[in-house]
Amino acid sequence: TAACLDRITATEPAITALLTNRAEGAPAEARALDGAGPDPAKPLWGVPLTVKDALTTAGTRTTCGSRILGDFTPHYDAFAVARLREAGAVILGKTNMDEFAMGSSTENSAFGPTRNPWNATRVPGGSSGGSAASVAAGQCFGSLGTDTGGSIRQPASLCGCVGLKPTYGRVSRFGLVAYGSSLDQIGPLTRTVEDAALLLSVIAGHDPRDATSATLPVDDYMGALAARKDLSGVRIGVPREFRGEGIDPEVSAACEAALDTAEGLGATIVDVELPHTPYSIAAYYIIAPAEASSNLARFDGVRYGRRAESPRDLADLYVRSRAEGFGDEVQRRIMLGTYVLSSGYYDAYYRKAAQVRRLIREDYEKALAQCDVLCGPASPVTAWGLGELTSDPLKMYMMDVFTLSLNLAGLPGLCIPVGMGSRSGMPVGLQMLGRAFGEGDLLAAANVLS
Ligand code: GLN
Repeated sequence: TAACLDRITATEPAITALLTNRAEGAPAEARALDGAGPDPAKPLWGVPLTVKDALTTAGTRTTCGSRILGDFTPHYDAFAVARLREAGAVILGKTNMDEFAMGSSTENSAFGPTRNPWNATRVPGGSSGGSAASVAAGQCFGSLGTDTGGSIRQPASLCGCVGLKPTYGRVSRFGLVAYGSSLDQIGPLTRTVEDAALLLSVIAGHDPRDATSATLPVDDYMGALAARKDLSGVRIGVPREFRGEGIDPEVSAACEAALDTAEGLGATIVDVELPHTPYSIAAYYIIAPAEASSNLARFDGVRYGRRAESPRDLADLYVRSRAEGFGDEVQRRIMLGTYVLSSGYYDAYYRKAAQVRRLIREDYEKALAQCDVLCGPASPVTAWGLGELTSDPLKMYMMDVFTLSLNLAGLPGLCIPVGMGSRSGMPVGLQMLGRAFGEGDLLAAANVLS
């Protein structure tokens, strides 16, 4: 804990990964654990971690990157956070993020951007950019992020760490500030695949307070890792849509080299297709904002967080609290979501998007019947410059082209670093996607390859 706090002091001025630094409270918690002696029942005994500010932490400010929650201190821990604490982890801080997890660069945070530890002129990716940067900068040994359309995998890719989005329902969303409830999942960002497996085994499991939480028993992920020494018998499917056009050559080169390595380790590469991939951006940017517009209705200046000063009447209180409290991107998404759900447009947009979602899910089922894992880049480019895409939201949305469809299908996916781009010198990540609740197989294969 002391060493990580020193790293925080040394690196924060350059990267701003944290919204709340628990340098005051954390050492005492670590000392209390120490006094009790190592506890084999606590697999994270004394391990310093950080947590995305979208997850509630009892007694510690939880902003979700928004002004509207700028002074909100919850009185309960999110399920995943409680599990970390029970396992003996020390939570060093809350990480920066795009406001309400809407974004791909962490530039939509109301509290200013986080910078990429590899090059502070570049973005760390998003929306869990603070988590990825805190791991990459050595501020902690792991972090919890959330992934609605790529927000764990893409920043992991841009910062050169490991990021895992579990199957929808594997980790309880209790205590997660909801963005797109049918898409959101909590997962780990870590330095190694083994650490991701360990964190997942701590946070996975059924929770009656999340009605979508799966009752399936949690697999032995560490055992799965130990059992696999090479990739013999593993069929890696490479979707045609994840190769070629629109991908920066330095990203393709690093991913293709990783596939060659996988072949050398005994894997067979098979060509597959996910033909509805081109429609995933359109479908996602209807479904996610629709759900967000409903989820964010609760922020009305009455029950949570920031309230407008001296309102004229109730309507004025709502309007001004929301107009002052939400940033531009969040307002854009609320308008978009409200529009696609409104009477007369629902059938044309929302229903259509839900139909496309089904087709995307069927694509994955067909592809995963021909192979064990799917591989491709997590992001079409390496980390771009701060401010480069902020004026063009559509271009920013395009950055999610390889990650979004997985959330629409509800499947697990992880990202591992596979080297540095030959032109930019920035990290490249390979995405590995698997079958529902197949995290054990996925982690084991990724562990061999990483
Ligand atoms: N970039 C995507 C969005 O803005 C995904 C974000 C996420 O996964 N939370 O919605």
